[in-house]
Amino acid sequence: MQPKEEIEQLRKLIRFHSDLYYNQDNPVLSDTQYDELYHRLQTLEKQYPQFITPDSPTQRVGGVASRAFRPVTHAVPMMSLDNSYSADDIREWHERTVKLLGRDSFEMVVEGKIDGVSCSLTYQDGKLIQAASRGDGKTGEDITANVLTIQNIPHQLPQAPGGVLEIRGEVYLDKKDLEMLNAEQESAGGNIFANTRNAAAGSLRQKDAALTAKRPLKFFAHSFGLGHITAESFSAFINWCRTWGFDVCPVRTQVTQIADVIRFYNEFADKRADLPFDVDGLVVKVNQFQDQQLLGATARSPRWAIAFKYPAPQATTTVKNIVFSVGRTGIITPVAELAPVPCAGVIISNATLHNFDEIQRLGVRVGDSVIIERAGEVIPKVIKVAEHRGTQEVLPPANCPSCGAPVYKEQDEVGYYCINPACPAQLQARLIHFASRDAMDIDGLGDVVVRELVKLNFLAEFADIYQLSFLHLLQLPNFKDKKAQNLLDAIEASKKRPLAKLLFALGIAFVGEKTAEVLADHFHTLDNLKNASLETLQHIPDVGEKVSQSIYDFFHDPKAVEQIEKLRLAGLNFTQPEREKSGNILEGKTLVFTGELKTMTRTQAEQLAKQHGGKAASSVSKKTAYVVAGEAAGSKLKKAQELGITVLTEEEFLQLIQKTN
Ligand SMILES: [Zn+2]
Repeated sequence: MQPKEEIEQLRKLIRFHSDLYYNQDNPVLSDTQYDELYHRLQTLEKQYPQFITPDSPTQRVGGVASRAFRPVTHAVPMMSLDNSYSADDIREWHERTVKLLGRDSFEMVVEGKIDGVSCSLTYQDGKLIQAASRGDGKTGEDITANVLTIQNIPHQLPQAPGGVLEIRGEVYLDKKDLEMLNAEQESAGGNIFANTRNAAAGSLRQKDAALTAKRPLKFFAHSFGLGHITAESFSAFINWCRTWGFDVCPVRTQVTQIADVIRFYNEFADKRADLPFDVDGLVVKVNQFQDQQLLGATARSPRWAIAFKYPAPQATTTVKNIVFSVGRTGIITPVAELAPVPCAGVIISNATLHNFDEIQRLGVRVGDSVIIERAGEVIPKVIKVAEHRGTQEVLPPANCPSCGAPVYKEQDEVGYYCINPACPAQLQARLIHFASRDAMDIDGLGDVVVRELVKLNFLAEFADIYQLSFLHLLQLPNFKDKKAQNLLDAIEASKKRPLAKLLFALGIAFVGEKTAEVLADHFHTLDNLKNASLETLQHIPDVGEKVSQSIYDFFHDPKAVEQIEKLRLAGLNFTQPEREKSGNILEGKTLVFTGELKTMTRTQAEQLAKQHGGKAASSVSKKTAYVVAGEAAGSKLKKAQELGITVLTEEEFLQLIQKTN
């Protein structure tokens, strides 16, 4: 093999295995094998520097020589739990335990099994000195730097016993944080995580702890390794954990009968969807430590605990068609259109097939009966073919399904792209993004309306939105005076959005919502940003090399500049308001938002609460100061009423915080 060829081959392999490791939580190569590939590439690039390209894995910002973390041996092995999936399984476990203990009745604690990543925290005289992943149970990885960035892990335990204390638990991500992270990843051109566990695992594996710090990871304590624990039972230990400053899983009950365990499992099956985090089952533990010692462990797992898991919600249906959707960057994603089928409480009629490699792996064809799954997943996915009925193989389209331009595939990537910048599908996706809630927030300019306006040639670029008139809109199906006027009003209102929203709306590569905020706060006006040198951009905290280059290129592209001038002429606001010093009417108060809000998203509402000194929580307790109830508020509203907590409507909430301005 020629050196150039080998270099390219190596890069391809490294990218593939990095993706498996960081994004899919499914590593195939050992760290040593991976490092061998990496070092071979480094050696070749040193020998043949003419073949080094900026996108080589060795050239990444913060590039690392090795993905391996320092190994940590667990003094007390981190065992895994046996799994059970049915009432029969759990009864069998109970019978075995009864025999071993020689008693019919014993205390059991049942707690939620968080779908996260196991982690061990070692404290020396109350100070966190080491964090390690589970690894194979005997040896894990030293992830101290990453774990130190997790907000709810105490670095000091002033009240804990001295000496060594090893607390174990689960690092996880809230469901809504996964949604936000994925939205950010998407606008930055990054990978989409399939579920909260993959996102947590990938975040912990970053060699650059600054990246981990940006992920909203959390921790629940659930057991211990070494340490002088004076508690006599698991439930007492959990209480100690709370006292020491750890969060613990709020899903917990104590029972003595196996029938109560099964009842709790059944009752909780539906409730778990409402929790802010993913729970894939329950853990049943014998409560008294004396009993636990008596029961001991097998080579693999303790006899005193068992996981009682819920099957991932699946459904079987037929693939009616496979269509190709074109995103705003031109990427083509195959989507299976399904015969509608209920799964985990919603009707599923589409499932993603991710990319063409995945189609090949599954061997799926139109007409096949397939099994789909929603296991805390954002989008349902096809997991396997149940029965082959189709005959025609699905191939990547040679031409863009929207504009007919030839489809292009980067050699090292799995994705296929439409490279026509004038492609209507891409244009549509860009316009929809521009008008979306988190961008310019033009109510009424959604998917369908944009498509119609593009079809009628009324929209070909962002600035055209501001040229729309009554006469244009009345030509749309179902548009009468009132609807047209409402849309025109919404378009007019969008001109006043702060600079950060506009920057996000423009769809600059790698500029997500957060980066847009940082840029707007830093530069205050669009012109300041536009005129910034590459060097200035690179020195802004949180803006990396790749991002600053992309921003710089954008503002030096004549087409983009022309677009910006048109938007200026249309009267759009190009400035960012100074961060207002808000009053602190909510200082120290905890709020819970529930139900559907009319004027803002949940995230926006929570941010508002924060700006006014408050804190948003996801569940109602005695400590809650206000519950803000939108439409169709359910159990949280009921609980607030039971506890006598002040309930506010959305309007009342807004009035309350406006009083302070
Ligand atoms: Zn196209």
